[in-house]
Amino acid sequence: MLRKLFIALSKLKWAQRLISKLGFARRASRRFIAGETVSDAVSAIRQLNAAGIQASIDFLGENAQNAEDAAAAAGQLIQCLESIRENQLRANLSIKLSQIGLALDVEICRENLSKILARAAELNLFVRIDMEDSSMTEKTLSMLEWALSSGFDKTGIVIQAYLYRSEEDIQRLALLHARVRLCKGAYSEPPTVAFAAKADVDENYDRLAGDLLEIARDAGYPEATQDGVVPPIPAIATHDPARIEAVVQLMRLMQIPAQAVEFQMLYGIRRDLQQSLAKEGYPVRVYVPFGSQWWPYYMRRLAERPANAWFFISSIFKR
Ligand SMILES: Cc1cc2nc3c(=O)[nH]c(=O)nc-3n(C[C@H](O)[C@H](O)[C@H](O)COP(=O)(O)OP(=O)(O)OC[C@H]3O[C@@H](n4cnc5c(N)ncnc54)[C@H](O)[C@@H]3O)c2cc1C
Repeated sequence: MLRKLFIALSKLKWAQRLISKLGFARRASRRFIAGETVSDAVSAIRQLNAAGIQASIDFLGENAQNAEDAAAAAGQLIQCLESIRENQLRANLSIKLSQIGLALDVEICRENLSKILARAAELNLFVRIDMEDSSMTEKTLSMLEWALSSGFDKTGIVIQAYLYRSEEDIQRLALLHARVRLCKGAYSEPPTVAFAAKADVDENYDRLAGDLLEIARDAGYPEATQDGVVPPIPAIATHDPARIEAVVQLMRLMQIPAQAVEFQMLYGIRRDLQQSLAKEGYPVRVYVPFGSQWWPYYMRRLAERPANAWFFISSIFKR
């Protein structure tokens, strides 16, 4: 119920316009957002890198309203790539295709994506394509397939365990040896396309993680690159200790080298777990969002854990 409310709030443009400019709201958002400028993201990533943790930069923004905004966002994303190299960060880039025009027109998006991927290739950087709501799943997968078949091999995607279709999608991606980030899924989906019960999502998560480990084995266990840029095939993106433990156990059973799987978490969530996995020698990457368009992202974090809303409300009374 509360989850649905926050997801609905995430889509309200007027709420975004009104509330995200208020001082208390901006302060509260800093728990999950590195800041509003690229230099805020760079300093957050420097701290992570110093603790042995890699990062993926996310320049916040989604659903471009016109071709000009989509092209401008692509330009900003290219600047993020350049900042990674200029600052010698152990990081790569995460992008949302709706930010560069996928919801407007496939060709606009393809043109913007090819510019981003061409610059990433020049800089030898990896770009992860985030997964959005289920209206975008097929278009997003097709775009990744186009990118890989066009030679942009340092590109990966995200699969959501709550979708029924994900098992087949993972097999489809296995044919391309695609690098896959597995998450539970952050949007509100109808029962016609997604599991509604948490236990079913968790069970599917474990099954799909197992599939990804087998795919990595069949591909000869490609490892995370030493420079912290290119991840291995499976990226296990969750803060759920039971899911992480299930993967660690399976890795032991299958004798999978630690560098052949990456664990990923969000900025500001379960820092203790991020650090303990890194200390145990596993590659860990933290997703670091920055920018002024933080409202939808922040509302999805509240939807995942409504207890976070109290932190948001209590910050109204703090100076
Ligand atoms: C690196 C990364 C990238 C992601 N990319 C995408 C994407 O492209 N598309 C997409 O749909 N989703 C994405 N997600 C979000 C994901 O789908 C989940 O919504 C989110 O990770 C919460 O699920 P969980 O796996 O942590 O499990 P949950 O069962 O939701 O949570 C497990 C535990 O984690 C902690 N926790 C989880 N969420 C929060 C929170 N918001 N605040 C505080 N504690 C919390 C709590 O301790 C909780 O008990 C991404 C997640 C990560 C980590």
